[in-house]
Amino acid sequence: MIRRILESLETSREREIYSGLDTRGELAWSRSSDEILAAVGAWQATLRSRGVRPGDRVGMDLPRGPELLPAHLAALAAGATVVPINAALTESERESVLEHAALRTLVGPTDRPGRAGPPRLLERTPESPALLIFTSGTTGEPKGVPLSETNLEANLDALAHAWGLTEADRLLHVLPCHHLHGLAVALYGSARIGMPILLLERFDADLCIEVLAEQEATVFMGVPTMLRRMARSPLVRDLPRMRVFISGSAPLEPQEFRLFEARFGHAPVERYGLTETMIVSSNPLDGERRDGSVGLPLPNTEVRLADDGEIEVRGPAVMSGYWRAPELTREAFRDGFFLTGDLGRHDEAGYLRIAGRKKELIIVGGTNVLPGEVEQVLAAEAAVEEVAVAGMADPDRGESVAAFVVVRAGQDETAVEAHLRARAEAKLAPYKRPRSYRFLSALPRNPMGKIDRRALSRI
Ligand code: AMP
Repeated sequence: MIRRILESLETSREREIYSGLDTRGELAWSRSSDEILAAVGAWQATLRSRGVRPGDRVGMDLPRGPELLPAHLAALAAGATVVPINAALTESERESVLEHAALRTLVGPTDRPGRAGPPRLLERTPESPALLIFTSGTTGEPKGVPLSETNLEANLDALAHAWGLTEADRLLHVLPCHHLHGLAVALYGSARIGMPILLLERFDADLCIEVLAEQEATVFMGVPTMLRRMARSPLVRDLPRMRVFISGSAPLEPQEFRLFEARFGHAPVERYGLTETMIVSSNPLDGERRDGSVGLPLPNTEVRLADDGEIEVRGPAVMSGYWRAPELTREAFRDGFFLTGDLGRHDEAGYLRIAGRKKELIIVGGTNVLPGEVEQVLAAEAAVEEVAVAGMADPDRGESVAAFVVVRAGQDETAVEAHLRARAEAKLAPYKRPRSYRFLSALPRNPMGKIDRRALSRI
């Protein structure tokens, strides 16, 4: 992958391919391929002066600015493993990640590139991954996911084909850069094909729409929360250059998919993946994009469903095992397939649908309830803005289903609860129906748009 990125920068020389927009959407800085290559060389000098050699791990904790991409590319070209550090971690979480990663050095916001010079591509040691990402939301020890050059190249190549990405596109980049999606798929994936990147300081729905129009972006990659907010923004702008809105990391409800399509004239392309597997499936660019579905497996990627519905994945982009955790690795694979912990099914067109997380199953009197199934029934009620269900301790049945609902502005909660109870009665078997309804002003979510179910169960 890094070889491809450097080659792509070499061939696009004078083109401005990496720019930053401030919080008002104004162009704050811009870099041509030439300038990026020079900065890669300069960062390599800094890394060399800190004794970085192929096989070492380099922590990256840089702001969304002009130095972010060159510093990452410098570490990759030096044969080092990039370890992105999430700036939002608490002090103790951060320490735990740093300890597990055993870094040679950490590149932070106050570091500067060294003496300029041409970049050098050093041979990577076979056992050193290109990227080591510590996954979020785990309890206890952090889990390191190593992704090799081969993993990255295979997935980024498949995605460029699946989404028809080319250097003629322009990506509006709003995702965090310490994650698989924002970093590998969006940042490295764009640089690999010379697709210009517009880095927005932070997500804001109105600002995004404004910038898509003003900067003539053609590609947007976001999480469902972003698409939901954009569909509700009062700002109307023509987006004649826009080509594709990609959504993933959390489920996009069918009614949100349709609302977005009605608003922007583009059906979102929903995709599914995990840090451990990279992107597994996507709705097609040409062909039917089905709401509520994560589409079809990417070429070379095999998806199979276990008897209990768990999604298992095998393919060239799947990691070979967790970082220095042989026990965890053994538990994570079965006959070469990675066990995702997600539950799924194939619909009548063969498209994959995610039904929830295996460990989020609610077990009512010994019978499994899929949160996703209950949520879909409740979310179809027009007065409901968002809904999530979780298992609550029940003295009689072990667990029972509790619903957490956000109503649309101006709706009466008591009336909505009555409608939801009636809907559940009509559509769901008795054990699946929520026993209790709690009304919230917003669902607790992490920055990637995933519902924080641990927070829900504490409400
Ligand atoms: P992460 O490794 O942090 O990217 O989280 C991966 C998890 O996000 C998966 O195991 C799924 O539970 C969830 N996920 C990713 N994409 C989707 C999607 N399109 N729909 C539903 N869940 C998703």
